[in-house]
Amino acid sequence: MRRHFNFHAHTAVSAYYICGMKIICIGRNYADHAKELKNDVPTEPLFFLKPDSAILPPHNPLFIPEWTNDLHYECELIVKINRLGKYIDERFAHKYYDQIGLGIDFTARDIQQQCKEKGHPWEKAKAFDGSAVVSKKFLPLSELGAINDLGFRMEKNGEVVQSGRTKDMLFSVDQIIAHVSQFMTLKVGDLIFTGTPAGVGPVAIDDVLTGYLEGNELFRTKIK
Ligand code: ZN
Repeated sequence: MRRHFNFHAHTAVSAYYICGMKIICIGRNYADHAKELKNDVPTEPLFFLKPDSAILPPHNPLFIPEWTNDLHYECELIVKINRLGKYIDERFAHKYYDQIGLGIDFTARDIQQQCKEKGHPWEKAKAFDGSAVVSKKFLPLSELGAINDLGFRMEKNGEVVQSGRTKDMLFSVDQIIAHVSQFMTLKVGDLIFTGTPAGVGPVAIDDVLTGYLEGNELFRTKIK
């Protein structure tokens, strides 16, 4: 039953998002988070992809996959690309986005650890169906303020578990765009998950995760 339900939900969402869009995720972009997972701080932005099928349809709960025993949330600020570009200079990167959202990079931490130990890619742990919560609403940057000084937080069952400010990013949004676009073309509708601050942790059935960007509630996700 569950499989059937999810299939229809994903069919609906692929029409909602632009065909061919990709999700670029930045890893270890906050020093305090890199430290909590005992990872080195990177010398250049570390990125990986999630497919569009990873997007959890708005208002759907996330069902914990049966193959993980340690599913973690990572709340992240999301930048939506609004122009086609390659080899984008950092100075011009700000022309490629004007809307900011919030989401969760769900991570099967146990599976990711196994992948890392074997030196394997970690898509199994990061790119599965439902692993990307994307707020339905994106807020215009013109209303929010400077990209380098935005605050966001996530609550689990009403308690703040993560809070971050974009000024604490190791690599700024513009540096990320400049870096990633050396390797792949950025397209209209692509999303960049910009990394998570400290406070990541496991989820359990019946948890409710709520994300706020500058005080605006942008997502509310139930775990089933
Ligand atoms: Zn992440």
